[in-house]
Amino acid sequence: MRFTVVTAFPDFVASFLSTSVIGRAASTGALDVDVVDLRDFADGDYRQIDDYAYGGGGMLLMAEPLARAVEALAGEEVFVVYPSPQGAVLHQEMVESLAGKEHLVILCGHYEGVDERFIEASVDLEVSLGDFVLTGGELPALVLIDAVARLLPGVVGREEAVREDSFYRGMLDTPHYTRPALWRDRPVPEVLLGGNHEAVARWRRREAVRRTVRRRPDVVARAGMAPYLSHGVYVLCFPGEDGAVQALEMEVMARTCQAYGARRLLVASPSAELRRNLVGGSDGSSRAVKAFPSFAKALQWVKAKEKTAPRVVSLRREPTAGALHWSQLKRELLEQDLPLLLVLAMSGGTEEREKDRCDAVLQPIRGGDGTVGDLSPSALLSVVLDRFLGWR
Ligand code: SAM
Repeated sequence: MRFTVVTAFPDFVASFLSTSVIGRAASTGALDVDVVDLRDFADGDYRQIDDYAYGGGGMLLMAEPLARAVEALAGEEVFVVYPSPQGAVLHQEMVESLAGKEHLVILCGHYEGVDERFIEASVDLEVSLGDFVLTGGELPALVLIDAVARLLPGVVGREEAVREDSFYRGMLDTPHYTRPALWRDRPVPEVLLGGNHEAVARWRRREAVRRTVRRRPDVVARAGMAPYLSHGVYVLCFPGEDGAVQALEMEVMARTCQAYGARRLLVASPSAELRRNLVGGSDGSSRAVKAFPSFAKALQWVKAKEKTAPRVVSLRREPTAGALHWSQLKRELLEQDLPLLLVLAMSGGTEEREKDRCDAVLQPIRGGDGTVGDLSPSALLSVVLDRFLGWR
């Protein structure tokens, strides 16, 4: 990947880029960074790049030298970024999108900023580091390069470390400790000293969840739960009488479960014939769908498989008193770290009879205008699994 930084202070930018992790990556060819002096594109003996703003209010970078600096890269597939306090606030998803570009050109503003006409004509994205104002775009440019570069292969020594960092999977990173094991009466958590890799992994998952829920509940809503759960997610549905139609719907649901890493699609029906139709196998089970004569039997099977009782949550298509918002339920599920059994009824299914067995009901999926739509069971399941298990 290539980066070009256009700046009025090339020495400042170049010295960081030649000394940091980025400098090492550039020297090994893992990335290619150019620092361009904006004055090289200015006119006259003074190589003027700035002028007074019309209407008063200080100095601005002029449009023409900036435009020439970008045009000098003509013929290349460039994506032009202008760091600005008025841009979209930088976050990990944005960094990931930028890491997919071939060549990022970053234009550093100064003084009051840059002539608006240049932004309109040539800038693809304005990016802000946050709601505060810096004196120039050089530090934001370096921050951008650093954040993007560390996602590229060969830049960070231990690439696994990047995947364990905050935000990569969605949650914050876990706390870290080094020697000595006891520092000023503060011991390192016992589990980290024991050498039990499974226990350490479980502790790290729990700590990452705990601190994210406490510090950044907004991040929890965006994060996928799968890497943080010690148990499986199961889906149980109650088919109605119309076996032929429902077999198709069931197939879509089984594929959805597979796509999101839910362990198994279960069906519960007292009708042996219906169970056979739905799973396709004569023994009442197949790879994708497992059938049970009752809710209780299905629940028992999940309990035995997971060695603990699951949280049982009903998915409804109509509003129910006391129903939980999905982000609230997601936080609870992460904190409890129990297996999850999502229960939904197909049309004509026995949802009503089984509803008392659920620990919680999820609020129905609402459309953009807040109304509850008539979603098919498979569509409903897709939305719910995406919210809980989908990659952020
Ligand atoms: N007049 C501008 C405003 O209030 O929106 C601020 C200009 S600032 C003093 C000068 C330059 O610093 C900007 O052109 C921009 O490149 C950079 N800069 C300042 N704060 C920034 C932030 N929060 N994020 C990204 N860039 C910033």
